[in-house]
Amino acid sequence: MRLYALTCGHFEIRKRMFIADAEDGETRLRIPVPAFLIVHPQGNVLFDTGLHAQGLADPWGRWGGLNKALVPHLSLDDHILHQLASLGVRAADIRYVANSHLHHDHAGGNAAFPRATFLVQRRELQAVRDPQLVRTVGYFPEDCALEANYQALDGEYDLFGDGALVLFPTPGHTPGHQSLRVTFADGRRLVLTGDACYLRETLFHRRLPKVVWNAPQALQSLEVLFQLQQAPQTLVIPGHDPEVWPTLRHAPAYYA
Ligand SMILES: [Zn+2]
Repeated sequence: MRLYALTCGHFEIRKRMFIADAEDGETRLRIPVPAFLIVHPQGNVLFDTGLHAQGLADPWGRWGGLNKALVPHLSLDDHILHQLASLGVRAADIRYVANSHLHHDHAGGNAAFPRATFLVQRRELQAVRDPQLVRTVGYFPEDCALEANYQALDGEYDLFGDGALVLFPTPGHTPGHQSLRVTFADGRRLVLTGDACYLRETLFHRRLPKVVWNAPQALQSLEVLFQLQQAPQTLVIPGHDPEVWPTLRHAPAYYA
């Protein structure tokens, strides 16, 4: 099994967005938009898909005022298909897509994979189809290709039944957020956290962002991730950390 870290663009934000009570809250962070390709003997899997192609071409036209808080540093090369093409992987080669959640920077590339099965927590699928939650949680449903082949998950899910790729609920950021435990044959483990944990600081100091759907659930999810980080041979990868991201192995290099 191989895991490739892909970068699908950057945004610039005030640190306060990620850590509500940060002392250096006005500091501007240039944050990555990550996605991951996992090459497993039983099929290729994506964890998150970055941004929609039309948004990459015209962020203001697609996402409007959100760009004020989340200033886009994007190009068409940031599309998930371009990132995969650099590895010789095509859309048709992707069997499963697991979205941590359905925000526009995590599910925006979903439309590029019409033949894949999408694995998302049922609670998240309900939320993105609820007009009130669309407003309060901040979804762009048109970015998620909701007509695609979605499979609703109820809790923990061992994708290939071998313990290598296990999705597990980490709600709070959104109602049905999930994370992925990736366990290699020798026992080393990577945990992909999406937006359940923005920064390393979030994890080690349990500091919540300014915008959070359910704070008690978000803290509980951080506690779960923190406990996982205590295990040997384990690395919990924060979702948008501008300092951690460059220290990881990036495609074409990989974890195996
Ligand atoms: Zn995000």
